[in-house]
Amino acid sequence: IELLNTPPDAVETRFEEQIRPLRMGDFAGQQRLTDNLKVFISAAKIRGDALDHVLLSGPPGLGKTTLAYIIASEMGGSIKATSGPLLDKAGNLAGLLTGLQKGDVLFIDEIHRMPPAVEEYLYSAMEDFRIDIMLDSGPSARAVQLRIEPFTLIGATTRSGLLTSPLRARFGINSRFDYYSPELLEKIIVRASGILGIGIDGEAAKEIAGRSRGTPRIANRLLRRARDFAQVDSEALINRAIAMKTLECLEIDEEGLDDMDKKIMETIVNKFNGGPVGIASLAVSVGEEQNTIEEVYEPYLIQAGYLTRTPRGRVATLQAHVRFSTGVERSEGP
Ligand code: ATP
Repeated sequence: IELLNTPPDAVETRFEEQIRPLRMGDFAGQQRLTDNLKVFISAAKIRGDALDHVLLSGPPGLGKTTLAYIIASEMGGSIKATSGPLLDKAGNLAGLLTGLQKGDVLFIDEIHRMPPAVEEYLYSAMEDFRIDIMLDSGPSARAVQLRIEPFTLIGATTRSGLLTSPLRARFGINSRFDYYSPELLEKIIVRASGILGIGIDGEAAKEIAGRSRGTPRIANRLLRRARDFAQVDSEALINRAIAMKTLECLEIDEEGLDDMDKKIMETIVNKFNGGPVGIASLAVSVGEEQNTIEEVYEPYLIQAGYLTRTPRGRVATLQAHVRFSTGVERSEGP
């Protein structure tokens, strides 16, 4: 059974590049965020400045990388992309920074996972467009200051809470992504199917959109699987029957919950009597990494109304008890 929340592999990454919107006009949703960005981009262009540094936060697959590329293209500069864990040495970062032209974008995905020593280098780069590099070591060590061109740092994070305050303070623009409505996901699915060259009718798009966890990456994933089912059945169009068959075969329920979502909720409700349960015990019980639960599963379960976070741990809501209780414990539950 395919879990919906796994990170994209190489094949999927290529596919995502193929269907990724390249202009603000093709980027659906996140209205307030994009409206504000348009103003900041226009103003920076009028002044002839680089755009202020931008922090994009929110769960995976909502379009942070996509928006970073769009910002770079709207600013008319090029983009260099890397990620926090890849920047393991300050030298890697210095190399990237010194290669930037005026107005370029440096995109750092998973910026909360950058090593602290590298992060410190970034401060002066962001603030004064310069970096201090130590040449040699021991008695002959000396600091050299390198100027870099005014650039825009775009940082993306699934966990803005883990950013240090000095780093957070250096972002002039701080934008949070929300889950998408089914109506927006429907539009995204129809657009992607056009690029893929496979037809989909309105009902099928609606069915898939409703079960995509508010996430464009998942909507596109389900669309690809539906395309497989349509092709094997020699159907030229993804219709409602094909969509339903796909969703059934992948065991995606009406709300788009996958196996791990259900396992998490069933564990809290039945094994821990509805909670509160600490994240570490929960992670061990369901056999998933603590980080993944916090970054990927929890935000959606919270927004779907099944889970709340309290200082004492995670607690299942009444709605969760009604849906996930296996019955035995229910009589003892709230
Ligand atoms: P991660 O943090 O896991 O890298 P992300 O938030 O950067 O995820 P993207 O890689 O930008 O997500 O988006 C995943 C896919 O969803 C992209 O291929 C893109 O086609 C699609 N997508 C995302 N947002 C939108 C949108 N607003 N409109 C249309 N398509 C979108």
